Amino acid sequence: MLVPDEVTIGIVKDRLQQTDCKNGFILDGFPRTIPQAEYLDQVLKEMGVGLDVVLNIHVEDSEIIKRMSGRRVCLACGASYHTLYNPTKTEDVCDNCKSNVIQRDDDKEETVLNRLKTYHDQTEPLINFYGKKGKVVTVEGQDKIEDTTKAVIAALNSRS
Ligand SMILES: [Zn+2]
Repeated sequence: MLVPDEVTIGIVKDRLQQTDCKNGFILDGFPRTIPQAEYLDQVLKEMGVGLDVVLNIHVEDSEIIKRMSGRRVCLACGASYHTLYNPTKTEDVCDNCKSNVIQRDDDKEETVLNRLKTYHDQTEPLINFYGKKGKVVTVEGQDKIEDTTKAVIAALNSRS
């Protein structure tokens, strides 16, 4: 379950008022709901600040399920792996410290499906909310992190 709106919003408001946000900031994973977005609009208006871009990194559900369900972590040293993209040298054994690696409950398919449902119900409507304001830039979330990074930088440069 996600943290209630009033808690998240208070944290974001306090953070945006710190001096290191004077020249700009990136909100990652916030807002996640229309009420949060409406409140954020209000806070930014009070601060005299506008959003430049809303970046939508698009990945198909099937791909998200594939990526998440392959994640494995080592609880002993914190190393993370992926059964397809970054496997341990020996199955289920951490390369660093030889402890067993596990699948977190958060990464189990049932949990991922629930989170996707929450995303489609509550967060995806933001694409339209910000789309109407002309703020949305969509990039494809590629297999390789560096390809996505390049796409994000290109999208941001196209708007500046
Ligand atoms: Zn380890």
